[in-house]
Amino acid sequence: MGHLIPLVEFAKTLHHRHRISATLIIPTDGPLSTAQKTFLSTLPSAIDYLLLPSVNFDDLQPDVKIETRISLTVTRSLPSIRDAVKSLHGSKKFSAFVVDLFGTDGFEVASEFKIPPFIFFPSTAMLLSLIFYLPELDETVSCEYSEVAEKIRIPGCIPVHGRDLVDPVQDRKNDAYKWLLHHAKRYSLAEGIIVNTFKELEPGPIEYLQKMGSDKPVVYPIGPLIQKGSSKSEVDESSVCLKWLDDQPNGSVLYVSFGSGGTLSHDQIIELALGLEMSEQRFLWVVRCPNSTTSNATYFNVQNSGDPLAYLPEGFLDRTRGRGLVVPLWAPQAQILAHGSTCAFLTHCGWNSTLESVVNGVAMIAWPLYAEQRMNAVMLHEDVRVAMRPKVGENGLVGRVEIANVVKGLMEGEEGKGIRSRMRDLKDGAAKVLSENGSSTKSLDDLVAKWKSNS
Ligand code: UDP
Repeated sequence: MGHLIPLVEFAKTLHHRHRISATLIIPTDGPLSTAQKTFLSTLPSAIDYLLLPSVNFDDLQPDVKIETRISLTVTRSLPSIRDAVKSLHGSKKFSAFVVDLFGTDGFEVASEFKIPPFIFFPSTAMLLSLIFYLPELDETVSCEYSEVAEKIRIPGCIPVHGRDLVDPVQDRKNDAYKWLLHHAKRYSLAEGIIVNTFKELEPGPIEYLQKMGSDKPVVYPIGPLIQKGSSKSEVDESSVCLKWLDDQPNGSVLYVSFGSGGTLSHDQIIELALGLEMSEQRFLWVVRCPNSTTSNATYFNVQNSGDPLAYLPEGFLDRTRGRGLVVPLWAPQAQILAHGSTCAFLTHCGWNSTLESVVNGVAMIAWPLYAEQRMNAVMLHEDVRVAMRPKVGENGLVGRVEIANVVKGLMEGEEGKGIRSRMRDLKDGAAKVLSENGSSTKSLDDLVAKWKSNS
């Protein structure tokens, strides 16, 4: 969902501003989730989609990493991608063939049909800069990146510890790393890369990427693109959450959620619950069942069976009744963040969640779990300074006292005041770049002008 949602927003924007229609060609490795099905059933008429036959993964080990899975889903779907493009080719005139960040093997089909290849990158300019830098890092560093004593200097970015880099580079022997490196080396084959970010948020890496040289793809920052409404299946949840928010004072609620797939350990859920209780602040928390052992996520197709509320500390719901609302599994995040009662967001720092927070001017507590979220947290906390970051204790958990202090600090304290004020400025910056003369609007217009000149 974290890739599909912004890609569809991009397609909507293309149609709204430039009357360009889009067809989503979707490779699969099994049935779609309910969230995906509902989302696809509500696409506007200018966007249609083709669901490709599921690929077979019987030969893969069960613990194969997500980057490997996605990349293999694409390579094993190449014949059906080719058929899909062939079937559309007579009836449509293609301006561009746009792939997801792990979809560069699809370029093969683009070149067969002579369609210009592009990448839609639903993450940060910082991660994109790391991807372009990765082949050099791979040649110059011989150990694991987490063992490098100094921070890694990704061009244009705040220095970051190797252990905070994106997940697939954490184990260089794993296939996931090899796949990322494979894609990194193919990124230069794209004519352009469309990135869901904007200049005020990431000036350093955007400037670097745009000056890489004429042998590199043109980088188009067109963000922040975020989903505006909620899908049909959320309507019931929406009314509960939004009605509850309507009854809370303006700017008083902490929203707590770990994205579409983030889960915590049971011990961590207990600490978080007791920390929220100790903070004495109002909160709206989307709770999932715990993962088995660690505080890391088991993301992608998380199967949440059972009742998540059963894992909360005894008496917690009674003690926080009125002040806190706990929602199992899923909430209408876009509307919650846009609601006047929401003051702050405790988030896993997924990039869509981050942009949704920025667009609504909601200050953040950065609690990264997986993918590139630790990099995002470093950027948001140390560089842009719109987030507080709780410390992980020696037992690997964020303790209840730390949680209570950070929550209170952000919502009531002096440090929080500065953070909330910087976030309001960033919100204004986000609105400006998307206005008629804003830099992201101009980037999108440049992209479309290029497509039109190609055709
Ligand atoms: N989301 C939502 N309700 C939830 C959890 C997530 O609407 O309870 C949406 C959220 O608004 C965002 C997307 O799902 O648009 C999650 O994307 P993100 O990149 O933040 O994280 P990911 O799920 O990819 O880790």
